[in-house]
Amino acid sequence: MAAAAPAPETLAAFEAAKGFMPVREGLALYAAAAEAARLGLPLLEVGTYCGRSTILLADAAREAGTVAVTVDHHRGSEEQQPGWEYHDPEVVDPEVGAMDTLPTFRRTLHRAGLEDHVIAVVGRSPQVARVWAGEVGMVFIDGGHTDEHASADYEGWAPRVADGGLLVIHDVFPDPADGGQAPYRVYLRALESRAFTEVAVTDSLRVLRRTGAGI
Ligand code: SAH
Ligand code: MG
Repeated sequence: MAAAAPAPETLAAFEAAKGFMPVREGLALYAAAAEAARLGLPLLEVGTYCGRSTILLADAAREAGTVAVTVDHHRGSEEQQPGWEYHDPEVVDPEVGAMDTLPTFRRTLHRAGLEDHVIAVVGRSPQVARVWAGEVGMVFIDGGHTDEHASADYEGWAPRVADGGLLVIHDVFPDPADGGQAPYRVYLRALESRAFTEVAVTDSLRVLRRTGAGI
């Protein structure tokens, strides 16, 4: 069976959106989301930014009659702050003088026609995880890239993946020359826990399935 693909207008909205998800990885993310959505549970993303990847989760959720939940404090990661490599001056709130990606995210989602299929949570990932009660069909970790943030995302959210559900991690670079190692370390930890088994690799995107209880 061919991997599920997003609706053409979703793909167009995704390609037009600001963000950090290349198309190849986006298509792999969509295929994982479409599969996980069949469990009928929410799909959860850590790291909304301007909604580029959220659009894909939302489309998969809509198809399956479930919902995408996306968590971000909208103040940007370390490497997105002024003076750093991934800073974008267009997403600074001039009134408070800090980054604010929430308005751009809302416009992106509105333009894609997917607002009804997304619950946006504005907050710090570990705090949200602490008050989150239910199981999810998929957790997509694409938040902060320091060890502190990546491990907190894993510890807070991986235990919420339902049996048979998926844990998807972005920016996994086994070779330090290609990028930071925190997501890679989290990925190794997930495999070592034996609660997850790898099912797909597309560039830096890793898809793992929950197959055991050990976390
Ligand atoms: N998924 C996006 C890219 C996310 S960039 C895309 O497809 O384009 C990483 C995002 O994680 C940033 O918006 C940043 O604000 C957020 N972030 C970093 N650490 C976080 C934390 N501890 N809690 C919530 N959000 C966090
Ligand atoms: Mg990423």
